[in-house]
Amino acid sequence: MSYLKGLKCRECGKDYPKEALHVCELCFGPLEVNYEYEQIGKTLTRDVISKRPPNMWRYRELLPIEGEPSVGAQVGFTPLIRAKNLGEALGVKELYLKNDAVNFPTLSFKDRVVSVAISRAREMGFKIIACASTGNLANSVAANSAACGMESYVFIPHDLEQSKVLGTLVYGANVVSIRGTYDEVNRLCSEVAGKYGWAFVNINIRPYYAEGSKTFGYEIAEQLGWKLPRHIIVPMAGGSLITKIWKAFKEFHTLGFVKNLDTRVYGAQAAGCSPIVNAVKEGTELIRPVRPNTIAKSLAIGNPADGYYSAKTITNSGGWADNVTDEEIISAMKLLAETEGVFAETAGGVTLGVTKRLIEQGRIPRDESIVVSITGNGLKTQEALAGKLGEVTVINSKLAEFDDLVKSAGKVYAVRA
Ligand SMILES: *Cc1c(COP(=O)(O)O)cnc(C)c1O
Ligand SMILES: [Zn+2]
Repeated sequence: MSYLKGLKCRECGKDYPKEALHVCELCFGPLEVNYEYEQIGKTLTRDVISKRPPNMWRYRELLPIEGEPSVGAQVGFTPLIRAKNLGEALGVKELYLKNDAVNFPTLSFKDRVVSVAISRAREMGFKIIACASTGNLANSVAANSAACGMESYVFIPHDLEQSKVLGTLVYGANVVSIRGTYDEVNRLCSEVAGKYGWAFVNINIRPYYAEGSKTFGYEIAEQLGWKLPRHIIVPMAGGSLITKIWKAFKEFHTLGFVKNLDTRVYGAQAAGCSPIVNAVKEGTELIRPVRPNTIAKSLAIGNPADGYYSAKTITNSGGWADNVTDEEIISAMKLLAETEGVFAETAGGVTLGVTKRLIEQGRIPRDESIVVSITGNGLKTQEALAGKLGEVTVINSKLAEFDDLVKSAGKVYAVRA
């Protein structure tokens, strides 16, 4: 049973059929998926959801496909961690990490959007899957296309981390590296999509793709015991995830699954690429594009497609936005690893770094529930930490050398006679 009604323009409200469309022909506004909410309200309950398998498809009535998902059956339902040690380090009472660093199969939240996009693209009859990516989307499109036997074309900027490139090639994807920024990659891809008629998950079928991000929000609500957090901090690249988490919270509230809708949403970017943060701080919804320069490459989008809507989401929820330097990103990555045993990628450093700032500034109070969104895995951005961590000690396999080592470190251990 599908509750996918059609597409609707976010600006003028004009209705469109459920096809591969993404821009309104009247006002050029972006199209968004619309559902038969009344019907959903009659059949879907918290109890029904709770009894389903632990993956993102437990919310399938609220996802834009018509049949069964054809790929990504295991995606989602990642841990929500009560982070006591980190909470203590930051001086806050109730802190959680939503950890998509361990999302299946490619260790970032992008598997959520891609499994929806590919399932929908197949329903619409597309034969080739493609994307413009800052890295994680490339990994996910390549892996999930391979898993369902489809050919994929992945377009990336030339300066991505090695793990993100190898972690795309390994699945047999066609990888095209562009001499230019992500925004230049994206522009080329719009032209390719028009000419070749491929399913570019984040361009011509973006309305369907973006809905996958809602599951990140649904899961947080369910894992908190059908409650919303008072504060959530979200990393922003194109600005889609943050708007969809908010949409998820609103839908759960409308359906009566959570009682209060009182979450403040905060956006995080790197200082080297913060067009959305700048807009929020200046009190405008006008996004001024920038040329990115940061180690947080997965967030390096200088002209964000959903920048306007993410700034609005933040402001309307009573939240705020901020950015952090590359140095702060690295120290936040270390803090997260050392306190909670979670190795997040640079985007996680951005999110935690901004969280720390907002708490110190008093923008986020210390005694209310806070969720930090961890969206990608640190093993994929190892270059960022090269030369920034402690050294490995090398010795010969001689007990005496180890004794010297312990002694020189000035540590005292009980030694058996
Ligand atoms: C893509 C990405 C984001 C941001 O996604 P948008 O929806 O484009 O804002 C955040 N974190 C990671 C790790 C990503 O790969
Ligand atoms: Zn319109």
